[in-house]
Amino acid sequence: MNTSPIKVTIWNENVHEKTNPAVQKLYPDGLHGTLAKKLASPELAIHTATLDEPEHGLTQDVLNNTDVLLWWGHAAHDRVVDSIVARVQQRVWDGMGIIALHSAHMSKIFRALNGTSGKLHWREVGEKERLWVIDPSHPIAAGLPEHFELPYEEMYGEPFMIAGDAKVILMSWFEGGEIFRSGFTLQRGNGKMFYFRPGHETFPSFYDPNVIKVIANAIRWARPAAFMPYPKTHVPEALENISPKDFDFGKAGIVRE
Ligand code: ZN
Repeated sequence: MNTSPIKVTIWNENVHEKTNPAVQKLYPDGLHGTLAKKLASPELAIHTATLDEPEHGLTQDVLNNTDVLLWWGHAAHDRVVDSIVARVQQRVWDGMGIIALHSAHMSKIFRALNGTSGKLHWREVGEKERLWVIDPSHPIAAGLPEHFELPYEEMYGEPFMIAGDAKVILMSWFEGGEIFRSGFTLQRGNGKMFYFRPGHETFPSFYDPNVIKVIANAIRWARPAAFMPYPKTHVPEALENISPKDFDFGKAGIVRE
């Protein structure tokens, strides 16, 4: 078992924090800074990166030193450069875990990995959200109660355009009546992916112990056992002898006029 710290990079676009006083007040260190503090543990080596840094703080070197990447974006999805999205996707294919938070459902990287539009219904009035654990045996659900509530959240409702192979761990019910698949996993290449819904920038969800527990569990779950870049493609030499074939399909009677 690998007992060295899990190398975590928390990526945040860090846009609302600079423009919205309510967000500044709630998350003075930025969403990334608050998450880094709340997740701090000897088990994790946490690094943060933001949109405005060179290469969005996601250089090849940073990704090569990341086991699990967290992603929070909303207002600036389009400002994330495509070549960096491709770099992140390749690293996931090689084994890096990725956790997409809240409005990351419309980020380029989520849509690329999920394979659909990622669209959903939404309403922002600060209503109650009740999250139900529907797969209590999953490692991401470890230590959670049957359900827990967030008194103030943005509503996300179904239908949520997600991949058909999504494995749902948590479901949400909202005060206004909607339901939502609020926590699900996917495997993409050798990498594990988890989407988790709470975390609207004007609400204090990242101060909630259950929300932090879900994210911490997801980091441990998404850690790769090893990075496995796709090893080879063309394999001219076979393990076994292959009998000689006659490729004259007409003469062999396979292709007939
Ligand atoms: Zn939101």
